[in-house]
Amino acid sequence: MRATRAVIHLGNLTHNINAIKKLINPGVKICAAVKANSYGHGAVECSRRLVAEGVDVLAVATVSEGEELRAAGINCPILLLSLCAPEEAEQAVANDITALVFDEEYIDMLSKAAAKLGKTAYTVHIAIDSGMGRIGCLPEQAGKIARAIKDSGNLSIGGTCTHFAMSDVVSQEAKEYTNLQYKRFLEAVDNIKKEGLNPGLRHCCASAASLVHPEMQLDMVRPGIILYGYYADDVDRDYLEKQGRALDLKPVMTLETEVSAIRHFSKGMSVSYGRTWIASENTDIAVLPIGYGDGLLRRWASQGLEVSIGGKRYPVRGRVCMDQCMIELGTNSPVRRWDRAVIFGSQEDGACQDADSIARATGTISYEITSCITRRVPRIYVE
Ligand SMILES: *Cc1c(COP(=O)(O)O)cnc(C)c1O
Repeated sequence: MRATRAVIHLGNLTHNINAIKKLINPGVKICAAVKANSYGHGAVECSRRLVAEGVDVLAVATVSEGEELRAAGINCPILLLSLCAPEEAEQAVANDITALVFDEEYIDMLSKAAAKLGKTAYTVHIAIDSGMGRIGCLPEQAGKIARAIKDSGNLSIGGTCTHFAMSDVVSQEAKEYTNLQYKRFLEAVDNIKKEGLNPGLRHCCASAASLVHPEMQLDMVRPGIILYGYYADDVDRDYLEKQGRALDLKPVMTLETEVSAIRHFSKGMSVSYGRTWIASENTDIAVLPIGYGDGLLRRWASQGLEVSIGGKRYPVRGRVCMDQCMIELGTNSPVRRWDRAVIFGSQEDGACQDADSIARATGTISYEITSCITRRVPRIYVE
């Protein structure tokens, strides 16, 4: 096996879900977001663990992600958070993947797929656009859409949901927007009831809102990033502690590799494409078999990425290549060829940076850092 691997600590996933449960009101169901291969952590293994820990529903973004879970024998409800293509409608129905619907054309498409497969009660959830500006019908249209689902004959309403645009920001303005969205969502739910129909499970909170607005948890919450050990933007460890809702999370993924060579560089020798780094004195350079083809993005290096070996930090030098990158050891370093080098992960695992610190340095969010670790990096599951 390659030296470069993503070690997935399932024990930390268990730790996180149990810590999260303490902040979820009794009776509220948990829908765990396992889309994008569980944010890069491996959807099948993470889903199995999450279901074993009592999660009620799994959320995916594509029909093929749902199919992968079904093929692995996972039989809990699966919610499809994004829209599927017409060619995928039957696959969605056949695999009992619950779609989000909000317009008549799409309802008709799914109803026909259900009829073709002989299903008379294929479950869908109604998506409400309360202010995210992505998918969903406006709250005023919710009654009409619920009626269309009912009238289709082959579909049943299992839930009604919305998604917040600003819940991971802690400013007053952001809070007001979330409150407004929540109010609009409840109006939509009322409109469905006024139509004489049951809105089913009402859910609107992803990670941030579930933690900050416990009163908005309703019937189900949809945490994602916090499962994997990272806080949702502004809603970080300190903020939650100050709110009296302390949450201790542990990063689930550690990205590591091994030193594949150590080279003595004399003053004036340069490293990598474009010669952006030139040795100003004699030094040792270690080659690591990891690059942007693995998800170690070029832009990380320009933001001072450091790699940890034996508890010491070493800077990446020069441009990251597709398959390799170089770090500077300096002279008389204790580092030896084949030593383990940690790119990011938990401190307990020897990392000097986590996905959050890399994200902050490079102007993105931890979600993107872990999701972008590519398929070619084997995931190794440990407790
Ligand atoms: C991805 C997603 C979530 C989970 O979001 P986190 O911020 O990772 O908790 C919840 N709901 C919807 C609709 C999503 O797309």
